[in-house]
Amino acid sequence: MTNISRRDLLKSSAVTAAGATAGLTGIASASNHGKHNHSKSKRVVIVGGGIGGATAAQYLKKMDSDIDVTLIEANKNYHTCFMSNEVIGGVRPMDSIEFNYDKLAEKGIKVVFGSVINIDPDKQRVITKDNKVFSYDRAIVSPGIDFKYDEIEGYSKEVSETSIPHAWKAGPQTAMLLKQLQEMKDGGTFVIVTPPNPFRCPPGPYERASLVAAYFKKHKPNSKVVILDPKEKFSKFGLFMDGWKRHYGYGTDKSIITWIGKEAGGTVSKVDVATKTVTAEAGEFKADVLNIIPPQKAGPIAFETDLVGDLDWCSVDHKTFESTIHKNIHVIGDASIASPMPKSGYSANSQAKVCAAAIASSLNGVPMPDPSWVNTCYSIIAPKDGVSVAMVYAYKDGKIIKVKGSGGLTGPYNAEDRKREELYAHSWFNNITADIFG
Ligand SMILES: Cc1cc2nc3c(=O)[nH]c(=O)nc-3n(C[C@H](O)[C@H](O)[C@H](O)COP(=O)(O)OP(=O)(O)OC[C@H]3O[C@@H](n4cnc5c(N)ncnc54)[C@H](O)[C@@H]3O)c2cc1C
Repeated sequence: MTNISRRDLLKSSAVTAAGATAGLTGIASASNHGKHNHSKSKRVVIVGGGIGGATAAQYLKKMDSDIDVTLIEANKNYHTCFMSNEVIGGVRPMDSIEFNYDKLAEKGIKVVFGSVINIDPDKQRVITKDNKVFSYDRAIVSPGIDFKYDEIEGYSKEVSETSIPHAWKAGPQTAMLLKQLQEMKDGGTFVIVTPPNPFRCPPGPYERASLVAAYFKKHKPNSKVVILDPKEKFSKFGLFMDGWKRHYGYGTDKSIITWIGKEAGGTVSKVDVATKTVTAEAGEFKADVLNIIPPQKAGPIAFETDLVGDLDWCSVDHKTFESTIHKNIHVIGDASIASPMPKSGYSANSQAKVCAAAIASSLNGVPMPDPSWVNTCYSIIAPKDGVSVAMVYAYKDGKIIKVKGSGGLTGPYNAEDRKREELYAHSWFNNITADIFG
């Protein structure tokens, strides 16, 4: 089978996977005709209007328009992390990754702007900072991630917001990092400190390093990118290494990119904020522009509500995404433990559809069929050089499993394929953002 036809096959199986969840609309829509109205009250409150939360809101309404859906989100605008590396690399404007909730409100979803400070699992209610109380039959929590700032001495939330951004939640810090790179002198050094597993978007730090290197190659050719990594390998390792050799002279004296992995001493323990110098096992590295992506955990509300137990992430039933700790609260997206699915936006989108189907089925007293999921993560290594990793997932013996023979990685370099992958990446972005916010 050629590389292209294998990937086309994947696309058709991805459609099947998406279709499997879409097919559940048929089950739930029976309730819209009054056939299965087992439950009088159908209130679902969603905490977090990011990728998982906004998708779940849309699909609950599509599956059963009688469900009363309230979406509570801290910010009026959402910036996607996907394509934020292109913003940082100076090839895409910031407003192209900005979305709002107008279309969701038009579809009958009650959109509330506010911060949830408490979820009471016994009384089944959600409370916001301004003391609004929302009762639910089912809650969905999709709060994304928080950072373990104190694992790097000297780093803090305040430092990330004022001088050394992580830019791992898109928005003001994305703009700050872009500005710092643009203002950096030619001949400067951009140091990027990557997190240990598990973390949001496994190939993301390496795509960022690549796109900053592409910017330097074009605009600041004497500048360097240094990646300090506590891992020995990372997502799409071979594809990035090959791309860095072809585009950025990797492995030669003239390389724009230097990658220092675990064995070479890439683990960072400390930062001196004033001089932007980090201490790694390999020694001290002084940056002109410094990007520290700290170790991660589930968003604060997951800890506040004790959805984590002794862990950093929320354990869930893989068929429904209901918390294994609190009944009637479902956790999706980055905050959930859904391994072998990666913490990605596409995973969050796929999980949201399965979770919405599970809730719509349960509220209407119909059984939930076995679900399936899909994920593709694109990365741009240089302009016209896109790569991807993709997988279809099934449900077996109570767990999410990879479907053998589905998905895989982009094959060896071929200019036409790579140009097409970049196109696919951009069209994926347009399609998924329309699915979530459109
Ligand atoms: C640089 C970068 C590139 C990426 N590229 C890709 C990519 O190409 N493809 C891909 O699939 N994924 C990508 N990702 C990953 C993707 O962005 C995340 O996996 C995805 O956003 C997870 O969705 P989520 O719903 O779990 O969290 P989020 O999208 O972060 O949403 C969480 C939302 O909850 C809100 N919230 C949190 N707590 C509260 C509260 N207490 N009250 C009210 N609101 C609250 C937040 O404001 C936020 O809007 C990338 C990530 C990064 C950092």
